[in-house]
Amino acid sequence: MEKSKIGRRFEGKVAIVTASTQGIGFSIAERFGLEGASVVISSRRQKNVDEAVKKLQAQGIEVLGLVCHVSNAQQRKNLIDQTIQKYGKIDVVVSNAAANPSVDAILKTQESALDKLWEINVKTAILLIKDASPHLTEGSSIVFISSISAFQPPTGLAMYGVTKTALLGLTKALATEMGPRTRVNCVAPGFVPTHFAEFITNNETMRKSLEETTSLKRLGTTEDMAAATAFLASDEASYITGETLVVAGGTPSRL
Ligand code: NAP
Repeated sequence: MEKSKIGRRFEGKVAIVTASTQGIGFSIAERFGLEGASVVISSRRQKNVDEAVKKLQAQGIEVLGLVCHVSNAQQRKNLIDQTIQKYGKIDVVVSNAAANPSVDAILKTQESALDKLWEINVKTAILLIKDASPHLTEGSSIVFISSISAFQPPTGLAMYGVTKTALLGLTKALATEMGPRTRVNCVAPGFVPTHFAEFITNNETMRKSLEETTSLKRLGTTEDMAAATAFLASDEASYITGETLVVAGGTPSRL
């Protein structure tokens, strides 16, 4: 959608998006900001945070940028503390960080890689919500970023896919635990040509074959993912919780 046609559903809201200095996380933060939210962005590197803050500010977006490696407890605490100090509340949390340290078959994956996958993709998502929960407002909203790989973990992304499957269950469980005050939903993106996916999408043959698996005959964009996330986080989705929205151009996922 053209930026000038975007609405203002997040006026007065405060939204935290993790891993948000580029790619899908950045577009989600940008979308919330363009719709009126104060956004809190973060990632591991100060330089990336500074650059992303500048890009958002140039569009008139109110933004706080912090360094936060999601598996660093002190940095996660600081993310929440600074948000509260500056904005006083949290309306939306998008848990977007993920790692894919191995392309090995599951039974060939090193224990250290299994630990990292669980830690970054699942455990820290839980710990972040735990830290944020005392500050979440009535009608607040959590969105987890899973993956199309959650439904049928592909070869080469198998264990990563399994951690993304875990997020579907986490969404269901937390929706029950956190309702009625907070809704919890999930977005499962198809393939999007970002830095994270470039080892797949930069390969011409692989890219073509991925495009062919979609009904829309194209890969996704970061803006496609931001639009779906913003819908789920907005009051327009006020009777939707515990759900996963597949945003994958018709790539087979589930009935
Ligand atoms: P990306 O473009 O590579 O961006 C990753 C962002 O995360 C960067 O801002 C990076 O900045 C930050 N980051 C990386 N590790 C981090 C950590 N441990 N703690 C905090 N920040 C971290 O990735 P993306 O494709 O947008 O992926 C975002 C999410 O979408 C992930 O959950 C991924 O699994 C999911 N997803 C992606 C695709 C796809 O095809 N791209 C498909 C399905 C699902 P720094 O380097 O400064 O930390």
